[in-house]
Order: sequence, then C-alpha cells, then structure tokens
Amino acid sequence: MKIAVCMKQVPAESRGLMNEETGVIVRAGLKPEVNSYDLSALEAALRIRENVPAEIHVFTMGPPKAEDVIRTAFSMGADAGFLISDPAFSGADVLATSYTLYRAMETAGEYELVLCGRQTTDGDTAQVSGALAQWMNVPHANWVSDIENVTEASVTVAQKTERERVRMLLPLPCLLSVEREGFLPRLPSLRLKMTAGKKTVVSIGIKDLSDRDPAHYGLNGSATRVRKIYPPPRTQRNPLFSGTADACAEMILHEVRG
Ligand SMILES: Cc1cc2nc3c(=O)[nH]c(=O)nc-3n(C[C@H](O)[C@H](O)[C@H](O)COP(=O)(O)OP(=O)(O)OC[C@H]3O[C@@H](n4cnc5c(N)ncnc54)[C@H](O)[C@@H]3O)c2cc1C
Repeated sequence: MKIAVCMKQVPAESRGLMNEETGVIVRAGLKPEVNSYDLSALEAALRIRENVPAEIHVFTMGPPKAEDVIRTAFSMGADAGFLISDPAFSGADVLATSYTLYRAMETAGEYELVLCGRQTTDGDTAQVSGALAQWMNVPHANWVSDIENVTEASVTVAQKTERERVRMLLPLPCLLSVEREGFLPRLPSLRLKMTAGKKTVVSIGIKDLSDRDPAHYGLNGSATRVRKIYPPPRTQRNPLFSGTADACAEMILHEVRG
C-alpha cells in the first residue's frame, strides 16, 4: 500500500504576525516547526505500516527551508519525501494549496491512502484536506481519532464528532484527516536520525507538474484575497472595580446604566 502524508511547516509562534499593508503572514525571523497536527498524521501512517506492508511518502509545500519537515519525517520513519517548492506557489490559499498538493502527488504515483492533519496552526482553516479529496475525487473523513482496520480494499475508522463517536468504512483510495489525541507522535529514533540527513528529498516545481499554467498556482490561483488585516478595534472599555462587594455592585450598576 502507498500512503501519502501531507505535512506543513508553520511558524513556532502563535502571535499571528501579519504585514498590515500586504496582508501576508510575516514569517521572517520566526522559528519554523512541523505543524503538530501533521506529526500525528505521520504517526497514523507509521502505525498502519506496523500491520500492513506500506510505503510512506511525505509531501510538504513551502519555501526551501520546509525540507526540514521531511528530514523530521525521515527521522520518524517515512520512506520518501517530496518538497513542493517554487516561487510560483507562493501566496497560495486553500484552493491553490490543495490543487498544488494534488498535482504534486500525481507526479509520484497513485496512493491508496492520503493522511492529513486536522488543521494547521498558522492558516488554521482545516479546509485543505477536504479540498484535496475533492480534487482527487476520493471519499474523505475528518476528525479521525482511530484507524481500526486497514485491508487492501477499505479502511475502518472512528470519527470523533462533538457529541458522538462514529465508525466509518471507507473504500480505498480515500483521504483521512486525523485528530492529534488518537495519534500521539513517536519521538524520532536515533538510528533514523543519523540517516535522515543523507536521504534524498525529491524537489517538485511547477515544471514537474502535468498542469504548468501559472494561473492555477500561488497567489494567481487563489480564490481569496486579503483586503485588509488589522487588530479588532476595542469596542468596549474593561474597567476594573475594587473595593467591597457592595461598592463594586454600585459601580457595576452605574457602569451598566451608562
Ligand atoms: C484570511 C487568510 C489570510 C491568509 N494569508 C496568508 C498569507 O498571506 N500568506 C500565507 O502564506 N498564508 C496565508 N494564509 C494561509 C494560507 O491560506 C494557508 O496556509 C493555506 O491555504 C493552507 O491552509 P491552512 O494552513 O489553513 O491548512 P489547513 O486546511 O488547516 O490544513 C489541513 C491539513 O492540510 C495539510 N496541508 C495544509 N497546507 C499544507 C502544505 N503547505 N503542505 C503540506 N500539507 C499541507 C496538512 O496535513 C494540514 O494539517 C491565509 C489564510 C487566511 C484564512
């Protein structure tokens, strides 16, 4: 079985730094890390491979530095890594990101199973997996908290919704986006770490894709435009009351009455 795992590099920072002029996330100077949800997607793939013969391929789209994601994946046990990087891909929104991942996976063959994290910690839309499944025209399950059984033809999963746990049987090929809780990622192994730096990372640029039209990628291929980014205006004061309970109650009453 061939399993593709989508993993993204994100800033190890949750301050949401944006350039207010351009609406672009400011990444310079921020320490990058692997999106933690995606480590769980890789963990899910590794657990499947413990029971079923499988080859695990990792795909990451980002700047050249995103190669570190693949090196981390190698040190956890991934078999192959693909770095999807090209200036033509920059500024991609969900539509363009999912399309680029789809076209990049096409170059590497056919996958029975595609695993994504629940969401990223920077873009945070949790929409790329669904969009990717749509491009691939395969069934898709979100919020997967357990992968119970994998056969040559299907996968049985548990899906954790807000109120209940649902068991689903999906035919292969399909795409799953997994919850962190069910798949606590293993630590990189020392043995694999030693070879991770030497393994080949396959680079994929626009020239390698079957669709080379730059209008379909990056900012050009994005359906959304950030028009303005700004901190929400303060719409209310937050007065602090101190004193006895009765005094505070008086002050609150006064405040509420305006
Ligand atoms: C209003 C707004 C403005 C934005 N502006 C910018 C901007 O200016 N610059 C910018 O860089 N981004 C920007 N983004 C984020 C950008 O749209 C997303 O990074 C991109 O579309 C991927 O979506 P996501 O991060 O929300 O992924 P999600 O949908 O949250 O990710 C789900 C899963 O998909 C997979 N995945 C997602 N992205 C990748 C990837 N690149 N490689 C491999 N796997 C992946 C992972 O498995 C991940 O766990 C913006 C987002 C919004 C909502």
